[in-house]
Amino acid sequence: MYYITLDLEWNQAYAQKALAVQRQLSSRLRGEVIQIGAVKLDKSLRICGSYQIIVKPKYFKKLHRHVSELTGITQEQMDVGTPLITAAESFKRWCGDDFVFLTWGPDDVPMLKENFNVNDIDYDWLDHTYDLQKIFARQTDDSSKQRSLEFAMEHFEIPMNLPAHDALNDAYFTALVAQKLNVEDGIRTYNDFRGEFLESTVIGDADAGDDGYVTISEMLDDEVVKSPKCPICHSQMHTEDRVLHSKGQKYTFHFKCEKDGDMLLVLRLRRNFNETWRAKRTIAFATEESLEEFKRGIERTAVKRKMRQRKSRGPRLAR
Ligand SMILES: [Zn+2]
Repeated sequence: MYYITLDLEWNQAYAQKALAVQRQLSSRLRGEVIQIGAVKLDKSLRICGSYQIIVKPKYFKKLHRHVSELTGITQEQMDVGTPLITAAESFKRWCGDDFVFLTWGPDDVPMLKENFNVNDIDYDWLDHTYDLQKIFARQTDDSSKQRSLEFAMEHFEIPMNLPAHDALNDAYFTALVAQKLNVEDGIRTYNDFRGEFLESTVIGDADAGDDGYVTISEMLDDEVVKSPKCPICHSQMHTEDRVLHSKGQKYTFHFKCEKDGDMLLVLRLRRNFNETWRAKRTIAFATEESLEEFKRGIERTAVKRKMRQRKSRGPRLAR
């Protein structure tokens, strides 16, 4: 199996243009990929290949000033770039069929998926991805801070002898950082970590081709929400509590697995471009604190409800 460090540069649109294009596509597209850079490492983390391609955007054709300053890519380079469909084929061929992606931070692969989605390119093969930033945090100072690639390089005293914000250079730097980490162990223990999400998915993502939920109650009534399986042992979980609805369209459920204990399932709702609902759905172990907070929230809303009932029923006081 190979490790492939991946980095992208993308063109962002000026705000109005972005909104117009996304409405027209009825799909999310926050930026258009203009450069793919990747470095291949073997099982012992020896570098054995690299890949670079400039991609010609289809919707956001005018290079954003900020992007041009950051990446050094010019409008002329971009204009003669390879169309994404061709680039995707060639990149996939280069990747082969036995690899996992390592990225610095969580943004690159979702961006690539959005781009593939609006171009009708299959993106299932992008799923085996690990965020090296997380593995770095866990194997060094264990802080949950998002450290920059520059920070990680300084940490390992790797000289930055090439310009940053070039997709290939950044993929190469990511590879050098990977060589200093225990990547195999990082991947093996990637998900079994207390305090982090045991499961994290997006449900009803119409912008990515799924069916969105027409109403919120339809979502709350879905099996994956009202009677989820335990992410660890896959047995049915149970609940005796009501759902807690809090600010910013957040819904929290308290579930119990008989074997693995208390868990909190959280939904964060967002609108799809076709006006239906999607949600980020996460399940994590409930800590003492988070469970306390949940129960306080439930009590608070119960009190509010009673007061509302009293107000609507009770006689008006004369002033
Ligand atoms: Zn369980």
